[in-house]
Parts: sequence; C-alpha cells; structure tokens
Amino acid sequence: MEVLSGLNLEEIQKITDELHASKFRARQIHNWIYLKSVNSIDDMTDLSVKFREELKKVAQVTDTKIKVKQVSSDGTIKYLLEFPDGECVETVLMRFDNRANLTACVSSQVGCAVNCSFCATGKRGFIRNLSYKEIVEQVLTIQRDTGLKVTNVVFMGQGEPLLNLDNVLKAMEIFNENFQIGARRLTLSTSGIIPKINELANLDMQSTLAISLHAPNHDIRKQIMQIENKYPMPELKKALKSYVEKTGRRITIEYLLIKDLNDTLDSAKQLVDYLRDIKCNINLIPYNPTEKNDYQKPSNNSTMRFKSLLEQSGKKVTVRLERGADIDAACGQLRGKVN
Ligand code: SAH
Ligand code: SF4
Repeated sequence: MEVLSGLNLEEIQKITDELHASKFRARQIHNWIYLKSVNSIDDMTDLSVKFREELKKVAQVTDTKIKVKQVSSDGTIKYLLEFPDGECVETVLMRFDNRANLTACVSSQVGCAVNCSFCATGKRGFIRNLSYKEIVEQVLTIQRDTGLKVTNVVFMGQGEPLLNLDNVLKAMEIFNENFQIGARRLTLSTSGIIPKINELANLDMQSTLAISLHAPNHDIRKQIMQIENKYPMPELKKALKSYVEKTGRRITIEYLLIKDLNDTLDSAKQLVDYLRDIKCNINLIPYNPTEKNDYQKPSNNSTMRFKSLLEQSGKKVTVRLERGADIDAACGQLRGKVN
C-alpha cells in the first residue's frame, strides 16, 4: 500500500499511470494532499467514485496516527504522533495572535544522541532517524487535523537535524516545492555540528540557521552540552563566521537562560565578546523546567537585564514567548510523560 503523503508529483504520476489515469488526476491528488490536506481518498471529491475505489486498493493518504493531542489555552497545539513501527515523536503548532503565521515545530529524529543535560529528548538516547516522509507527515498531520495551512516550519522538535541532514534537506525541498512554503520561512536549529554547518555553507540555502549556543564560554557550555567537547566554541565561531561570509545570511543564536548558571552579568559580557564579529540575531529562551534535573527558570528581571546588556552591543535580541506552558510544550516533555 503506497502512502500518498510525502510523494511528489512525479511519484504520484507513477501510481496514476499504473491505474491508466491521466496526468491531470495526479495533479488533482497532489492538490488534495498538500493544499487541501484531506484525511482520506474518499474526500477527494473531484475524482470519480470509480477511480477513488481503484486508488484505495493501492494507496492511502497516511499511515501516521495522532496518539495524543493537547490544546493549550494560548492556542498552541501539541501532538504526539505514532509511526507504523510504533515509534513516536512530538510536533507542535504555534500561532501568534497578532500574526497570520502558523508555525510547525517538527522533529527530525526519534530521541537524540547529543544528550544535552537540560533536554528531555536527550535523556532517552538516540533511537532512529526519521525519513523525509515522516518529517513531511508531521506538517501534513497538523494541516489535516486543523484544516489550516502551515506557513513556517522550524526544526526545533526532537532530534539533531544536522545528524540526519539528507532527510532534513529532502523534507525542506518538499516544503518548498509541494507546500509552497518559502525557503526563508524554514529554520534549521542545531547544537553545533561543525562539519555539517560547513556543508550547509556551500549549499547556498535561503533558510535560517539557528545555533543552540546556550553558554558564553567553553567551561559553562561543557557542563550543559557534551557536544562542546567534540565541537568547542572557538572552532564553532570559525565555522559560523565562514557560514555568514559564504551565504551572506544572518544566523540566529539561541541562548537558553538558566538561573544562576548562565544568566549573570559576566555571562552577558562574555557572550557579547564571543558574538562581536558574527552577523546574528539573538533569541533568549527562558529555561522551561523538566522533571529530571535541578535547573531553574531565570527571573524576569535577570532575563530583561541580560537582554538589555546584549542590546547595547547593537544586536537584535528577542525573548522567546512561552508557548503552551500548560501542556508541557517544551522539547521532549510530552513524550517523556506518555512513556
Ligand atoms: N537539536 C536541535 C534542535 C532541537 S531542540 C538543537 O538543539 O538545536 C530545539 C530547542 O529547544 C533547542 O534550542 C534546545 O536547547 C531547546 N530546549 C531543550 N530543552 C529545553 C527546555 N527544557 N526549555 C527550553 N528550551 C529547551
Ligand atoms: Fe538533542 Fe537538541 Fe535536545 Fe540537545 S537540545 S539533546 S541537541 S534535541
């Protein structure tokens, strides 16, 4: 049984060819999948009943199930999705009241090998990569379930996208060509896999690269991110500078603020120094407490103080709005609870 979600037009044509149907049928099916996001072949109402019956014998819309769905009071929806092999990942839909944007936060792997100390996903270790179709399915499931069209995709769910780069790039291509989501509306977030950042620099991507830096120096970063031992900050800086030079694109620096660990004045100063000659925006993320560690959320005062110190260096700094706090919408938290 073929799964239609994730197939491009040529691949759908192979199926319609086998059923001796015209190329136009393939285009209709493609529209139903990507633009109208139907739940079943029966919903493809401009296909004849007879053709739908034939199609149903060889294909289905999806094989991904919604295992858990939680809706937050702020409109954020969090899904736990189950693939046919029983593995699950989280996908989150975020809406921001004042904007028409609908942002899907997708996972790229089941589990994650990077094992950052503050992250619930890392705790479970690495299970497997997602295929590009499984990445695409996450956005399609949101569209099917809500009847809304996703406008932005961020790879900030579970997993390290740069350690599954082939599938991630293929999924980005599909978002671009089949969903008509512009490359600039796609964001890749990474813990800093230097060789892959160098590879991306040569691809001339229009998408945004976000770096989970989370620390102002090697010693602090090493405490919370093991990956710092393999890809230390001075090397990372070289890679980031060369990425900006080659692509001309501004990168995003993500900085998780953890109380008393990396939210001090001293940390802010060191971070300003580190980022001085890197063309970037900074996104501060107040730590969202998970059950399995002792880190704490920073106070609002220290977050604002940290922000204004960084702003003095002339960089654009935003504080990530807390989304879905009432539904455990931080990375890896829903999954942890269900299991
Ligand atoms: N592996 C990639 C992408 C997925 S994580 C990466 O690390 O960049 C997406 C973001 O969520 C990362 O910036 C990560 O540091 C952050 N995150 C993880 N656990 C968090 C928590 N408990 N509170 C707030 N942000 C968290
Ligand atoms: Fe993996 Fe990102 Fe979580 Fe680190 S923060 S363990 S890289 S998913």
